[in-house]
Amino acid sequence: MSRLSKLHIRKDDIVTIIAGDEKGSGKTGKVLAVMPERRRALVEGMNFIKKTLRKTQDTPKGGIVEKEASMAISNLLLFCPKCKKGVRTARVVETGKASRKCRKCGHLFDA
Ligand SMILES: [Zn+2]
Repeated sequence: MSRLSKLHIRKDDIVTIIAGDEKGSGKTGKVLAVMPERRRALVEGMNFIKKTLRKTQDTPKGGIVEKEASMAISNLLLFCPKCKKGVRTARVVETGKASRKCRKCGHLFDA
C-alpha cells in the first residue's frame, strides 16, 4: 500500500472542517488539491488568507487578493451526503472494489 492511499481525503472530495476558525460552521467545500507529503489539502472556499500583490504591469497599484490556504488534512472530515455532516470513514472492500465507508450510515464514497 502506498503512502498516498492512507489519506482519508482525496482530490474532488467534499469535506467539512473540524478545527480552526470555521469549526462548527457546517461549511463544506471541494478538495482542490492534496499535498500528501505535507499532509495538507487545499479546499475550495475555505481558509482564505489575504495575499498582497506586488506591483506589476498588470496591477500597477499592487493590491490584495484573497486566496485559499492549505490546511491540515487531520482537520478535515469527509462529508457524508446521507448523514449531512462530516464523518469518520472505514476502509472496506465491497464487490471487489476498495471504498471508504461512512462509519455511521454505511454510505460508500467510492462505489
Ligand atoms: Zn453517513
